[in-house]
Amino acid sequence: MCSHGSNHHGLGHDQAVATTAQPYPLRAPVPVGKKITSLYKKRLVNFFTPGQWEKVNLMAAQSDVKFGGAPHVQLQVWDAPDTSRPSFAEATAESNTYREARVGESFGPSWTTHWFRCTLTLPEALQADDAHVELHWDCSNEATVWTAQGEPLQGLTGRGERVEWVVPASFKDGKGHTIYLEMACNGMFGNGPGRPIFKNNAGGDSIQPPDNDKYFKLAQAELVAVNLPARMLLIEFSIIHDAATELPEDTWEQHEALNVASRIIDAFKVGDDASLTKCRQIAAEYLGDQVDSAAVYETALDRRPTVYAIGHCHIDTCWLWPWAETKRKVVRSWSNQCDLMDRYPELNFACSQAQQFKWLKEIYPYGWQRVKEKIKSGQFHPIGGSWVEHDTNLPCGESLVRQFLYGQRFFEAEFGFRSTTSWLPDTFGFSCQIPQICRLAGMTRFMTQKPCFNSVNEFPHTTFNWVALDGSQVLTHMPPCKTYTAEGNLGDITRSISNHKSLDQDNTALMAFGKGDGGGGPTWQHLEKLRRLRGMADTVGVIPRVHSGATVDQFFDRLEAKSSSLVTWFGELYFELHRGVYTTQARTKLQNRKAEIFLHDIELLATIASIHDSNYQYPKKELDEIWQGIMLCQFHDCLPGTAIEMCYDDSDKIYAKATATGQVLLANVLAALGLKQSDVANLKLDEATAINTLPWPRRVLIEVSDGKAVVASGEGHALSVSSFEASSETKAVTIKETSDGVFQLENDHLTVKVENGVISSVYDRRAKREVLAGKANQFVIFNDMPVYWQAWDAEVYHLDTREELNNTKTTIHEDKGYRASLVTETHISEHSSVRTTISLSAALSDDQPSLIECEADVDWHETMKFLKVEFPVQVRNTEASYETQYGVIKRPTHYNTSWDMAKFEVCCHKFADLSEHNYGVSILNDSKYGFATVGNVMRLSLLRSPKAPDGNADMGRHRIRWAIMPHSGGLGAETVRTAFNFNHPMRLLGPAGSGSVGALAKAPVTLTGDDNLVLDWVKRGEDDQDVSLDDLPKRKGKSVVVRVYDAVGGLSRGTIETTLPVAKVFKTNILEDVLEEIVVDSGRFQITLHPFEVATYRLKLDQ
Ligand SMILES: [Zn+2]
Repeated sequence: MCSHGSNHHGLGHDQAVATTAQPYPLRAPVPVGKKITSLYKKRLVNFFTPGQWEKVNLMAAQSDVKFGGAPHVQLQVWDAPDTSRPSFAEATAESNTYREARVGESFGPSWTTHWFRCTLTLPEALQADDAHVELHWDCSNEATVWTAQGEPLQGLTGRGERVEWVVPASFKDGKGHTIYLEMACNGMFGNGPGRPIFKNNAGGDSIQPPDNDKYFKLAQAELVAVNLPARMLLIEFSIIHDAATELPEDTWEQHEALNVASRIIDAFKVGDDASLTKCRQIAAEYLGDQVDSAAVYETALDRRPTVYAIGHCHIDTCWLWPWAETKRKVVRSWSNQCDLMDRYPELNFACSQAQQFKWLKEIYPYGWQRVKEKIKSGQFHPIGGSWVEHDTNLPCGESLVRQFLYGQRFFEAEFGFRSTTSWLPDTFGFSCQIPQICRLAGMTRFMTQKPCFNSVNEFPHTTFNWVALDGSQVLTHMPPCKTYTAEGNLGDITRSISNHKSLDQDNTALMAFGKGDGGGGPTWQHLEKLRRLRGMADTVGVIPRVHSGATVDQFFDRLEAKSSSLVTWFGELYFELHRGVYTTQARTKLQNRKAEIFLHDIELLATIASIHDSNYQYPKKELDEIWQGIMLCQFHDCLPGTAIEMCYDDSDKIYAKATATGQVLLANVLAALGLKQSDVANLKLDEATAINTLPWPRRVLIEVSDGKAVVASGEGHALSVSSFEASSETKAVTIKETSDGVFQLENDHLTVKVENGVISSVYDRRAKREVLAGKANQFVIFNDMPVYWQAWDAEVYHLDTREELNNTKTTIHEDKGYRASLVTETHISEHSSVRTTISLSAALSDDQPSLIECEADVDWHETMKFLKVEFPVQVRNTEASYETQYGVIKRPTHYNTSWDMAKFEVCCHKFADLSEHNYGVSILNDSKYGFATVGNVMRLSLLRSPKAPDGNADMGRHRIRWAIMPHSGGLGAETVRTAFNFNHPMRLLGPAGSGSVGALAKAPVTLTGDDNLVLDWVKRGEDDQDVSLDDLPKRKGKSVVVRVYDAVGGLSRGTIETTLPVAKVFKTNILEDVLEEIVVDSGRFQITLHPFEVATYRLKLDQ
């Protein structure tokens, strides 16, 4: 206890009294008993909670004067039509009829909006200068308070979450003052059935699909003169109560808390304000006497543990409510904070997601101005530097880059700075390249807390250096209080140290406090509690010192000074819980994959056209809109598949719009390049061009009509086309039924045997080996009932219920010389079935692998089932490889330890691979992300059927493509390129009337050298004069940005050559800031990448 030595409250009050100089009495005057601790503890709760004692306990002192109903609170309401969310101007239009409304009336149904015109007339009793008057409004749903002039002031959330609006002093004139209340018929967590609770519960469960017929009763609408000393005593008593009940009984601080609390109870007299003063004096013996202001935080921080409290408000951009409601949650939540900052100077509030700031700017100019002022004055901190709090497993590398590029550019353009901290508290696991991408986006710090919810292994660090595949690191902190919505209770503070896994290295912690998920943010209660917890730490000690007033940057600045002594964690932060999210909502994942590919192609072609043709304008505005839509859908409850059905109706519209806009952009750019989409069947071969948007030579079969195929081959983006020659005698691929139900497909490389609809053998004739070790392309189905979070989780025990699906019929579908295929019907249940095509195409060259391609047409109507397809292979390795953004990650194929076993379902991108020395098998896919490799069985996850929170998730038709790719050698560039090829089918185009295909014939930017280097993306410079649309400084002239990465992990060298008139070349970060100038000679420059590096080059052109 030496640390309390200087504190005058360090010794208990009673002990101090006992030292007065009375002679020690000869005889004991009265018997004194030892307090029965358990009874004294139990008594405490009765003093400050509602219930049978509420008329005589501290509750009775809370609000001494209340006025409801006319003439003090007059209510009129206008019900917005259907589920529209009108603006203030629309809602207050003269044509709207407002009718009388009253407390006790119900409003609904779910998702409707009701605007209240509320006239407040303060009675004389509330007009005193020192009266603290609030409007208390509780309708169990959400609302926004507006001035009569249309300024949104703050949000209100029912069920006691945030029900007070402080009435301005200007209302104390006895006259009527009008405000508006915009009521949203949803709770903080949407409209789940029953009471808002996340629990398997017959009476209600908030992750079940919303109840669209909920009504909300206006329980309270009254003016209240608040008895502030009583309110503060309530807060103080609750803290002392927590100390008395939560601290261990072997601490004197616990006993002291119990003594102090008991004395407060004894001193309290109902209706006697003087007793409140006395009670608060007693409380101050435990909490200190500085707790009524931010001055409590002025004591110097020292070596003792410190918990940095950061106000935060996690607003899921969509989840149990649609985007449209999120826009209102933003203005409600952030206005609350602006209001609190005026009263609590210590409040520092960190807030992420550029998209939400953009909505505020566009829809709520008053709220935006208010937020901008608070950013300027230093209390409101935009953080995270990303467009939304995105998923990190599923988006492709370029999508992650754009999340940060668009996010940081928005922050810089609007606020004048970029974020240094990546802030993803709630994202479902973190890909191993995030540290590299963060560093390339100007961020050195990373904050999350999600891994603390691991269901198998406890994550061993709180504060550490997290290291990417390429070795890049970010300084990482996971708030040890295990939440990003801390309530600011004593337990949050103590857990911040007791759960701290890195105390041997540092004893500070971040605590993000405030209502969240559904928005809200800190309340005055949080701020008052924290002041008292700091006072307690400085007065009696025992708990860590909470500090309010510092920023997240300041917290990390301290850590950075000692970063070299912090432990390291290499590779992904695999989340041992939400493993279903690689598969749930398959359509959204397919749309995301397709959109990413589409954007790749359009940006490449548009870049070429915009340089080649001075009349062609790079479509930056449209590209920005498409990207922003796609990035919005990458939000961590949307793309992973954990939102309600309404959100997927919304995201479908975003993808549809992106596709429609994209089609127009494509037609325009093709026209500029002298091409147009034509009737392929009638194209003359010498007029046809195949567009290759990938950076390597290709040789591809393209079917132009039934039975007729052509071969596109060559380098560059416009490949020439020749006819595929095959006669019946010399079929390049054959198919035959060798015995009843047994088929054989064969090309120059492979002999494939299909029995009862499954692939029983793949013989690699060049490698002279059997590829399979069992029935491949075998569908398997599992019962899929996780512990609770349906759409999120596939739990380990689902593996115990594996059942093979039987195929009913296989027939020859195609025997075309260039391609042969079989169709198999598979019965899943009386509701569901699969029709699978297994095909083998002609081997076009010996240096190109043959694929066994599969396409499944699934009609899926299951309940809590998980459909997968298996590939047992004759390959042995303790690790399998999975494509991730800009690289591959290895994961175990065994269950040696609990860490290995926890990865029973993992994320892959376009391929997963199991290779041994000199041979392996890759499984490619066109839209899937869930995979498992157990021993030698590779298993691609296809479809799930959770019923919450979207009761119709994944029901209906799905077309899914995958391929088996046996290969000689280990995992290498061949798999990487083939997986790209598989996802980028080639387009056959005809000539347009004008324009010249010449610009495409030779790719304007080429990469040669090590084949593991991928020239992944080509785009125009963000700041180019003729491209840039935002307010950031522009650069003169045109430039081309080229992104390259090493895909399999090794020092790689290459040469980039351009036919463009290049003046200078710079290596840049992903924000396109110059890192260094690169020597360029005759349009060529050398590049060297370290393993798994992502490198960006900006080619400044001479025009
Ligand atoms: Zn979230």
